[in-house]
Amino acid sequence: MGEKASRQVVVLACSGIGKTWGALARETALELVERVRPGVATTACLPLLVINDPDARCLVMEHPVITLDGCPKACARKSVEALGKKVDHPVESIQFYTAHRELKPEGVAQLNAAGLKLAQVAANELAAIVDRLAAGGQT
Ligand code: SF4
Repeated sequence: MGEKASRQVVVLACSGIGKTWGALARETALELVERVRPGVATTACLPLLVINDPDARCLVMEHPVITLDGCPKACARKSVEALGKKVDHPVESIQFYTAHRELKPEGVAQLNAAGLKLAQVAANELAAIVDRLAAGGQT
């Protein structure tokens, strides 16, 4: 059997509890998985990697990975790297605000309207990266 033409891409957001940029990272990941690239983009809970859950580890090791982090501590990227896997496309969520200053996210448990819109914009922009990785390319 030949190699599949496309494969799933794992999108991992940091936990970012109590931080607007962490909330933006999580919301962007959900937008990608549920609205922009359902069936192609998939995700897992980051703590499962931290506790070395076998299913989460397999998912990350066998697929291309995009990480979305809320600050330079880069917990999502480093959790993947701790498994010995290089992240294909690491992202810090603030970069989307830097590119779209008119959308200032606020809130932690729930983003404001501008933050939710920014998550949609970010997910739309990341769709091209997902498509390239799903097709076996690089970013
Ligand atoms: S990357 Fe920053 S915001 Fe995200 S979980 Fe780690 S410390 Fe929190």
